[in-house]
Amino acid sequence: MLNEKMFALGNKRSIIREIFEYCKKRGAEIGPENVYDFSIGNPSVEPPIDIKETLINLIENENSVLLHGYTSAQGDYSVRKAVADNINENFSLFLSPDNIYMTCGAAASLTISLKALFNKGDECIVFAPFFTEYRVFIENAEGKVVVSMPEEKTFQIDINDFESKINTNTKAVIINSPNNPSGVVYSEETIKKVVEVLVKKQLEYNHPIYLIADEPYRELVYNGVKVPYLMNYYDNTLVCYSYSKALSLPGERIGYIAVNPKMQNAKDVYLAVCGAGRSLGYVCAPSLFQQVIGKTMGAKVDVNIYKENRDILYNSLTEFGYECVKPDGAFYLFVKALEDDAFKFFEKAKQKEILVVPCDDFGVKGYVRIAYCVNKERIVNSLPSFKALAEEYGVKA
Ligand code: PLP
Repeated sequence: MLNEKMFALGNKRSIIREIFEYCKKRGAEIGPENVYDFSIGNPSVEPPIDIKETLINLIENENSVLLHGYTSAQGDYSVRKAVADNINENFSLFLSPDNIYMTCGAAASLTISLKALFNKGDECIVFAPFFTEYRVFIENAEGKVVVSMPEEKTFQIDINDFESKINTNTKAVIINSPNNPSGVVYSEETIKKVVEVLVKKQLEYNHPIYLIADEPYRELVYNGVKVPYLMNYYDNTLVCYSYSKALSLPGERIGYIAVNPKMQNAKDVYLAVCGAGRSLGYVCAPSLFQQVIGKTMGAKVDVNIYKENRDILYNSLTEFGYECVKPDGAFYLFVKALEDDAFKFFEKAKQKEILVVPCDDFGVKGYVRIAYCVNKERIVNSLPSFKALAEEYGVKA
């Protein structure tokens, strides 16, 4: 007898992956340029040139046995030091290498953190709309998902709803800003209110409630918008970081967990993180890319490419009559479907070769996500089809 939960997960792929696979098949039939695939958050911007140069340099000049060998389970010391120093410099903090645990990207950072913190029945609050895989990761740690609904229109956190969802079983809260799928950056004001509630509730229930900052999109912000660094607001914070989006390296599987040294029992939490990584069989993060990251701290992709995409798409769609919040970061547009049922809307868009993701599984019904991390040409070419779709629904511009 198989593990039924695992079978179910494998048997029913995530909707994003389903659509992504469909696009590949459809592209083979009618030519990829005729399929407007906006399904997956796979960056289209080139990684910074430093990455390539460092990679070549490492391969040509370093000892290949060491380069491709195991590192310490928590990651190479010099790499963890580079990460800690970089955080300290950017956010005026005092982390040491022993607060950093290198991972295979944000998915691993989250899975490991949740496994480290959770006992059966503990609850984790997520803010809708949320990255669908949270449900998989939380349930894998035997936790229960509790969804807090957002403020209408702005998609900022609704503090009253949030407070009403906390109880004695609440173990952690995940904050993802800039957000997938809304692109919203939670304001400092919002974060301060969240922290106020958490501080009060920790005292009331007499146990820590952890804040997990899921930050793969931290650097992908436009017009100088600031993303509050949660460790600076709340001691019981773990940061789950990834270089997948920030450096366009999603296939290389590299990221880290940073445990706030000011956290209650920080050393024990770090040890539990190490234990969770071990129990999940991660062994160590990819050695070669640990080295690349350690040597390219501060490298950045050209965010203006995404900003240009955002502007073209946002301005055109709103002109055609679509409704959506203007995203300050990440590379997603969260658009209200033109009928109540987002799946039916998705099907109609599909007939015009536009592939977007219906977002019911992200915790908010009636919306679709458009990943605009694609080349500009695809966006420009898709606009007449978006317009025709709106007209089919009788939407007035
Ligand atoms: N968290 C969020 C909000 C994401 O959007 C993603 C990927 O799309 C992840 C985590 C997982 O990122 P990674 O590829 O680094 O595992």
